[in-house]
Amino acid sequence: MRSRSDRRHRIARAAARTTYLVKASARLGAPSSVLLIAALIAGAAWLTKLSGGAPTAYVHAYYVPIIVAAGRFHWRGALPTAVVAGLLAGPLMPLELGGGAQQPATEWCVRLVAFLTIGWLVAALSKGSSRSFAAIVTDAREAHVLRLALAQRQLFPHYQPILDLRTQHVVGFEALCRWQDPVRGLVSPADFIPLAERTQIDVAIGTLMLGEAVQQTADWHAAGTRDLVIAVNISANHLCQPTFIGHITDALDRAGLRPANLCVEITETAIIHDRATALANITHIHELGVLISLDDFGTGQSSLAYLQEFPIDIVKIDQSFVARVDVDPKCAALVLAIIQLAHALGATTVGEGIERPAQLEALIALGCNQGQGFYLGRPAPPVSAAAPELRPLVSSPDPVA
Ligand code: C2E
Ligand code: MG
Ligand code: MG
Repeated sequence: MRSRSDRRHRIARAAARTTYLVKASARLGAPSSVLLIAALIAGAAWLTKLSGGAPTAYVHAYYVPIIVAAGRFHWRGALPTAVVAGLLAGPLMPLELGGGAQQPATEWCVRLVAFLTIGWLVAALSKGSSRSFAAIVTDAREAHVLRLALAQRQLFPHYQPILDLRTQHVVGFEALCRWQDPVRGLVSPADFIPLAERTQIDVAIGTLMLGEAVQQTADWHAAGTRDLVIAVNISANHLCQPTFIGHITDALDRAGLRPANLCVEITETAIIHDRATALANITHIHELGVLISLDDFGTGQSSLAYLQEFPIDIVKIDQSFVARVDVDPKCAALVLAIIQLAHALGATTVGEGIERPAQLEALIALGCNQGQGFYLGRPAPPVSAAAPELRPLVSSPDPVA
């Protein structure tokens, strides 16, 4: 008897092959896709015939052409394919049950309905969304792997220092999520945060990051460091969850950290997602004393309105501006305008992505308050909690950064 894990593996392999087929057919032109679907139907019919009709499990082969047709041509492809499959698995090639008995008409009717339902489901899934069915299936598989990784504690924060540009002291850290995959090694958040956002795993990641980063900061304080502010990136979806405020207060209460030592980093996307809920939740945590930072400032579309409407304490000037601030006078003028605007509204400015001394000097000359970048310190694990001076924090650089 086959074990359950054996069966799970076989199902996973079959799902992977079907996904691959649907993906490949989405790249094919219409005539080649029709040929592929016809070949798959012929293959399924051959399998059913070969089986002598008795092991009805072979009939499941018909699901593959139906899924491919629905994924490629939506309902227009699913309907004829399901009907053809139903006829082949029924009246045209009647299956035999054990002992030579023919299957009753009700059985193939039920099977036809199952074929049509699967075709309809796949067509609805792939049409209702801007993403193809193949992309949705791939997401579902990768999300499963990411959920496992979360459960197995393969996700954790690295910390990048943020410095006061005048005193050159570390004033805080940004917690950046890392995934230590046993096969791929250290995976960059750029590779899994978008997937996490599409599949709602971002809430679990945000909650984990909040808990870990807030606790780490409380540990640093207990080890005698100066007052530090920990910045945590929060996704649009997480920010708008009814449980969001509870996640913040739970993390702070558990670690015994003051709200003023936590900074929530949001982007314009988070605000656009659901403006009313975002405003209500941001205002709520701001009233508790948590700092609010607008990340990647200058890359969105209507940043100025948000600056006025939302209680923003910190404006992070996007790396794309800092990259040329020391060589391009136009870029420097833009950075100066952002700094003056933020200061006029009472916000602190942070220059992101400082990689060389000239950028640092340019930002200081333009009046930027704080800075972050590889030149000042790379994201790293929290190895030196007890160090009296938190810089440099680690000897080994983060390979992802
Ligand atoms: P971000 O919040 O803007 O974080 C800054 C990113 O710039 C980090 O990339 C950091 O490693 C990188 N960086 C810092 N200094 C420099 C530099 O001097 N040069 C260059 N080229 N890059 C620098 P990372 O860690 O790969 O994160 C990428 C993005 O992923 C983050 O951008 C953030 O949007 C997202 N992210 C990271 N962790 C989390 C998380 O826990 N939750 C959510 N929702 N998003 C996260
Ligand atoms: Mg950030
Ligand atoms: Mg940023």
